[in-house]
Amino acid sequence: MSVLSAVLDAARSGAVQVVDLTTPLQESTPILELPPPFANTSRFRLEELSRYDDRGPAWYWNDIHTGEHTGTHLDAPVHWVTGRDGLDVAQAPMSTLVAPAAVLDMTAEVERDPDFLLRIEHVTAWEAEHGPLPDGGWLLFRTGWSARGDDAAAFANADENGPHTPGVAPDCARWLAADTPITGFGVETVGTDAGAAHGFDPPFPCHSSLMGADKWGLTSLRNLDRLPPTGALLVVAPLPIVGGSGSPARVLALVDR
Ligand code: MN
Repeated sequence: MSVLSAVLDAARSGAVQVVDLTTPLQESTPILELPPPFANTSRFRLEELSRYDDRGPAWYWNDIHTGEHTGTHLDAPVHWVTGRDGLDVAQAPMSTLVAPAAVLDMTAEVERDPDFLLRIEHVTAWEAEHGPLPDGGWLLFRTGWSARGDDAAAFANADENGPHTPGVAPDCARWLAADTPITGFGVETVGTDAGAAHGFDPPFPCHSSLMGADKWGLTSLRNLDRLPPTGALLVVAPLPIVGGSGSPARVLALVDR
């Protein structure tokens, strides 16, 4: 039997499950909201062209309005100034789009502290238990934050000092970028950096370090609680927007049951 037919048989029998990690795209899908004077991205929106009417009697279709960074999306290296000469989203290597995933669960810590920052010792403790991070794979930061995904205010969790959402400490971001073999870092929150990361040194360290090292980001992931710590195969399907800095993406995980 070929490897692929074995995978298909396993998917049909339920021995392999396909888990959808994607946030549904609609006008209420949370987006990043930057303070003035910065430009902001669009919410997702449908614009109806026809719906079995005089504009198109037998067909229904829409234009879509969206940002590249709306909903579950892929950040390309060129998204950040540190990666300005790097790849755009249409150039994502297939080895990045179909790759193993490691899942690091910090849900309990984030429940206690929404400003929780991932540190190097959290990752090395995970490695001591589960083995090294996957070469060319993804590190997925499970925080439980997606449980807030249908409540924009709870998802942003902002007060007068800005948003309070979990992220990565600057030295850990540098280390993930330079000293681990991952191809990218995925999160449940609206961006890969903490809500308070505008005030870090450097600002937005996850974007700055990872994209400067030709690595990729994934945001607004759901259902990470359905993945094992190791062994899931991630399938990331962004639109091949030529020159694009990112794209909404369907993200699936194949999991052994
Ligand atoms: Mn983004």
